[in-house]
Amino acid sequence: MTTRIYFTDALATEFDATVVSSVAAGDRFRVVLDRTAFYPTSGGQPFDTGTLGAARVLEVEDDDAGVIHHVLNAPLEPGTRITGRIDWPRRLDHMQQHTGQHILSAAFDRLFQVRTTSFHLGADVATIDLAREVTPAEIAQAQTEANRIIWEARPITVRFVSEDEASKLPLRKEPVKTGLLRIVEVTDFDVSACGGTHVPQAGMIGAILVAGWERFKGATRLTFVCGGRALRSHDALRDVVVAATRALSVLPSEVEGAIGRLQSEAREKERELRRIQEAVATLRAGVLRHSAPTLGRVRGVLLTEPGLDATWLKVLASAVVSEPGFVAVITGDAKPTPVVVARSADVALDAGAWMKRATAELGGRGGGRPEAAQGGLDASPARILEFARATIGG
Ligand SMILES: [Zn+2]
Repeated sequence: MTTRIYFTDALATEFDATVVSSVAAGDRFRVVLDRTAFYPTSGGQPFDTGTLGAARVLEVEDDDAGVIHHVLNAPLEPGTRITGRIDWPRRLDHMQQHTGQHILSAAFDRLFQVRTTSFHLGADVATIDLAREVTPAEIAQAQTEANRIIWEARPITVRFVSEDEASKLPLRKEPVKTGLLRIVEVTDFDVSACGGTHVPQAGMIGAILVAGWERFKGATRLTFVCGGRALRSHDALRDVVVAATRALSVLPSEVEGAIGRLQSEAREKERELRRIQEAVATLRAGVLRHSAPTLGRVRGVLLTEPGLDATWLKVLASAVVSEPGFVAVITGDAKPTPVVVARSADVALDAGAWMKRATAELGGRGGGRPEAAQGGLDASPARILEFARATIGG
């Protein structure tokens, strides 16, 4: 068993220890010490990093026998004394999130009797899963309550008790371990059995911010940030808001309204553009019909409109066939080639069937109704119009 310095002194960043063993594993080395301040991954909290002598600690693992393995980039000599140093900013960050989690979970438990079913401490945010769907108002209340406990700077203590003693404590969760239990207590607020590292005083968490939540299957996954992460999260949001207010020339409180106005203006512009396209298409269709060649029993308007999108092709084709006796096949010049085919009400051609035949012959996708169809074909505009001349009106 490795003596865990962090169990009783979560603030220890430097320690002396004796190397018990050092075993090569690929290009890494697994080192066991008689005692350590390095926290191994467990209970939702990631491992500590830092140095052991001149070696870097890349990972820390716990085994079933209670031995902590330090994964290093260099070997250490068994029997020697070394000094270990943990990466304090990383550890403090983990302690702020983990202790913050105890307080936030206890707030939901005490205010609304909602239990926390799981905890995950990620690189940027931490999450808890709550056992039912909670409302935004409940989340706001729990956040307020959790921060009240932090600002009261309540002491957080750690002690070891027997299973028997633990059964008399108001534990928030049934302990998963048996035997001697490590109890983490936020004074007059929360009692939990936990092996993680915690700040000794709630004020060190700084603040808890709920960053978001999603409801799923009768539960809620809540994302939160504490301490330095709360500060960074605020800064990131501030930068986004500043950029938005500059781009829109409005105050932060006016951003939402300004975006709404831009969206409705864009929709109005879209409608206006459509009206103009239709007017232009009507004029253009008249000219095109005037010079349209005869294809069997109908007259055909077959052309390519370079650089124009499928919407314009449709508008122009439907303007052409608004008079009796016409078929329009109009392509763009993108890849695949957009194609629209339409016919006047009195013409017998099945545009949908023609498009199916064109895709079978030329490759691509498309389909539609008997009066109009569209697609994207794998042939050049010239090849498509040649195919149209050969197959329409015969
Ligand atoms: Zn914990």
